[in-house]
Amino acid sequence: MITVQEAEQSIADTLVALAAETVSIEDANGRVLRESLRADRDAPPFNRSTFDGIALAYSAIEKGRADFPITGTAFAGSPQQSIDDPATCIEIMTGAPLPDQADCVVKVEDLDIAGGIARIREGVPLSRGHGVHLQASDCQAGQSLLEPGCRLTAKELSIAASIGKSELRVSRLPRISIVTTGDELVPIETQPLPHQIRRSNDLALNAVLASAGYAQTSRYHVADDLKETESVVATILAQSDVVILAGGISKGKRDFLPEALETAGVSKAFQWVGQRPGKPLWFGDYASSDRRCYVFALPGNPVSCFTCLHRYVLPALDQLSGLPPRPPQFARLKSDFHFKPPITLFLPVLIECDANGQTWAEPLPFNSSGDYISVARTQGFLELPPEETNFASGSSYPFRPWQT
Ligand code: AMP
Ligand code: MG
Repeated sequence: MITVQEAEQSIADTLVALAAETVSIEDANGRVLRESLRADRDAPPFNRSTFDGIALAYSAIEKGRADFPITGTAFAGSPQQSIDDPATCIEIMTGAPLPDQADCVVKVEDLDIAGGIARIREGVPLSRGHGVHLQASDCQAGQSLLEPGCRLTAKELSIAASIGKSELRVSRLPRISIVTTGDELVPIETQPLPHQIRRSNDLALNAVLASAGYAQTSRYHVADDLKETESVVATILAQSDVVILAGGISKGKRDFLPEALETAGVSKAFQWVGQRPGKPLWFGDYASSDRRCYVFALPGNPVSCFTCLHRYVLPALDQLSGLPPRPPQFARLKSDFHFKPPITLFLPVLIECDANGQTWAEPLPFNSSGDYISVARTQGFLELPPEETNFASGSSYPFRPWQT
């Protein structure tokens, strides 16, 4: 049996990042950037007005002038104009290029305009540069704006759009196969017999993956039958980058996955991890001439399955996609907690943030690692280390939120 940290390291050492591909910016939402994006020109590209008002030369105000004849109007989207006589001004709209010679904009609210003359009201605080968003004050042409390894969301896409990147290099989406196993499991719409239960893991896994940005999934179910398991394993290894199996991985007499995976040529990295829930966690990889497939076989128990997905599979998918590790989060235990076995405990917790900015984690008293109904009330889990037994209220431990 290996530790959680050893399991995590073994996975990280095995993974090789997925290739990049070029996609339209319209299809890039949620994808991971694989190129550097640089400013193609200054931002803003010209001195722009930040108000509707008048543009003028500040030197005229310094000389005591308050009345300015209006000689033209500058609109957003019109070419730059110029002020030939500093005793005059140009009416200007927000976003318009500042006229040549102008270095100050007075807001329309601070003016009285009559007969083509704008008069600045008394006491308006003004200075050189007032109302001017200076060229290159946000960034200079050539400056790096985004680096490879960031997930593209609305704000990153607006940067890409503003520099004219209609196509982007991004990581290929992993093709993921989700496979559930078990003779007792029936489809959701089926009325189970007394000894059967409805299948929920595949739907839960799929939902987590979709909200984490990994929506390219296929789902399968296999009975507890060696031949059928071997056949499905062979099919999915041929068509997936990542395989997530649920159930059939422990020491039960019909847990056929370890054998089927071995027969298919998947190279096992580990099978048992010192953790609760999720001790029977199997990980390996399958290499063919031109590609690799990574296999995570998670315990079928819904809570174990859900926890292992968050603790191991999501970080692995991020790494494969070229994302840096998610920054660690911590929370303080709200009450004393006792756990004796020398293994890591993943403890589902209810989270509360107090007015001092502290995050508190209340352990949920739950029945067993199968109690997925209680877990639904929690927001994530604390990771309690194997070397401690008494976990004191107020102590801080790593916290991982459930993907929402
Ligand atoms: P196993 O790991 O196959 O021994 O399964 C452990 C427990 O998890 C059993 O009680 C299974 O019925 C349950 N289980 C396995 N797969 C699923 C699934 N897809 N949905 C809901 N429960 C499952
Ligand atoms: Mg089973």
